[in-house]
Amino acid sequence: MRTLSPPTAPRQAPVARATTRHPLAASFALAIVSSIGTTACSPADRADEAESAVEEGGVRLAEGIDATGLRERVAQFAPVEIGFDASLLDERGRRAVKALVEASDVLDDIFLDQVWSGNRALREELATAGGPAAEAARDYFSIMYGPWDRLDHDRPYLAVGPKPPGAGYYPEDATREELESWLEAHPGHRKELTSYFTVVRRAGDGFEAAPYSETYGDRLEQAARLLREAAGLVDNRTVARFLQARADAFASNDYFDSDVAWMRIHDNLIDPTIGPYEVYEDNVFGYKAAFESFITLRDPAESERLERLVAHMPELEAALPIPDEHKYLDRPFTSPISVVTEVYAAGDTRSGVQTLAFNLPNDARVREQEGSKKVMLANIIEAKFDKILRPIADLLIDPEQVGEVDFEPFYTSVLVHELAHGLGPDYVTGSDGLTVNAALKERYSAIEEAKADVVGVHSLATLAARGEYSEEFLRRVYVSHVASLFRCVRFGVTEAHGEGCLIQFNWFLEHGAVVPDTTSGRFRVDLERIRAAVSDLAHEFLMLQATGDYQGTGELMERYGDMPAVLTDAIARLDEVPVDIRPTYLVKEMMESW
Ligand SMILES: [Zn+2]
Repeated sequence: MRTLSPPTAPRQAPVARATTRHPLAASFALAIVSSIGTTACSPADRADEAESAVEEGGVRLAEGIDATGLRERVAQFAPVEIGFDASLLDERGRRAVKALVEASDVLDDIFLDQVWSGNRALREELATAGGPAAEAARDYFSIMYGPWDRLDHDRPYLAVGPKPPGAGYYPEDATREELESWLEAHPGHRKELTSYFTVVRRAGDGFEAAPYSETYGDRLEQAARLLREAAGLVDNRTVARFLQARADAFASNDYFDSDVAWMRIHDNLIDPTIGPYEVYEDNVFGYKAAFESFITLRDPAESERLERLVAHMPELEAALPIPDEHKYLDRPFTSPISVVTEVYAAGDTRSGVQTLAFNLPNDARVREQEGSKKVMLANIIEAKFDKILRPIADLLIDPEQVGEVDFEPFYTSVLVHELAHGLGPDYVTGSDGLTVNAALKERYSAIEEAKADVVGVHSLATLAARGEYSEEFLRRVYVSHVASLFRCVRFGVTEAHGEGCLIQFNWFLEHGAVVPDTTSGRFRVDLERIRAAVSDLAHEFLMLQATGDYQGTGELMERYGDMPAVLTDAIARLDEVPVDIRPTYLVKEMMESW
């Protein structure tokens, strides 16, 4: 599961890609919901689309797209250089990182085939085409990993027709209905066909499954060699064990042991996450895992700071603005969080909007046995803050307060948001194990995201009152948080984060905590009122959760779920602000001399 937001999500986010997915079940449910909305592609659709296309310099653009428009789409992604402190690595460490980056590129190449079987030929075609349309198309292809716009519900920008719902995992003309009815008639094949790690092909008048180890065999062997090379170079034994186990998994197609090994990595500097993970690309069933890689360095100082926050969790639970009977004071387990610097990323995560945090592994058996781990990519969060949140604040926050919007408080509130998911009731008070999620059903996600926001900020106020943070820092937290609400609702309020942000914004507006200036179109934060407004809203959310009040949750969402005109106008002024970043990784240059 990955987090793309905050601080950014796509302008028109496909539902399945823009949410933080907490329980695994929710991730599958979302993938399936999104697949229902995807039109099955037939060869006839493709021919129609191709005929209406516009040809520019040998590139066949989709209808309604021209070179300028495509250039504008590329410009939605602000270029940013991603560097890191190479002096942290000794000579062997550098060689290990180099091997890991090379292995990542191999997986990146596999991912291109996982998106679509036609990708490779299309990329070659684009490489030889000339003119401005070709150049923009090459750039956008390199961002989107294919001819469909991930910011625009996967609509094609090149004349290739709709994206096959089964991406490169299933036969292109196979529909979900056909696959489902075949599986019902052949239940003995269900396990292999619905495996995370197989592709599905036609066989006779039915289907068969081929393991990744066979389908991508040569490349996985090459990646395995590089992982073993890196394993021989890293000092940390737990990292070496993971890399060895992962290399074995590429051949055996069994990823369980290597996922367990990944969970057991500790006291390390080089922190690799590499393999088949997320299932978002599979819009047929949401089963097939895409290859990706995060090569990162653990930040010991940041991780320690985070651990200090984690150590306060019991007192933060006790300080929640609800009666004690609803507090979960003997919570047994919180999943570990680590803070890292991203050195390199490849495959699925590089496509479209860039990941800023992830929670892995996805395999429910491993999660049951080992828990899961949340990883925050600190330098990616910072890059998005600089390129997106700061420009938004410059346009929309009162000039006297805009200086309060700062990376440090913003970043701290992103961290406490993640921690705050682990605060408050998990179960409805007095029920026999009824989870809040089950009680609030489809209304849960938006309320839980908004709860994490306000309980997080409330917790920072609690810590400030105890002298852990200064009053000045807390002020900057409030203003930065309000600025981030504009960023959040900008991308649509039909998705859990966006909806949760809109409720907060309307609540703050109603309570005079955020004050619009109708002349300038900017907003001022009332620093006295916002304190109480945050705690009161935290109380509302927590009580709805504690009592499992499905109807009350609906009423709150209804009352605070409309876009006010001041907000619509504000969002309209953000047109020039980038939607996301387009990273260039400096490690590529550095490693030439390693
Ligand atoms: Zn969240």
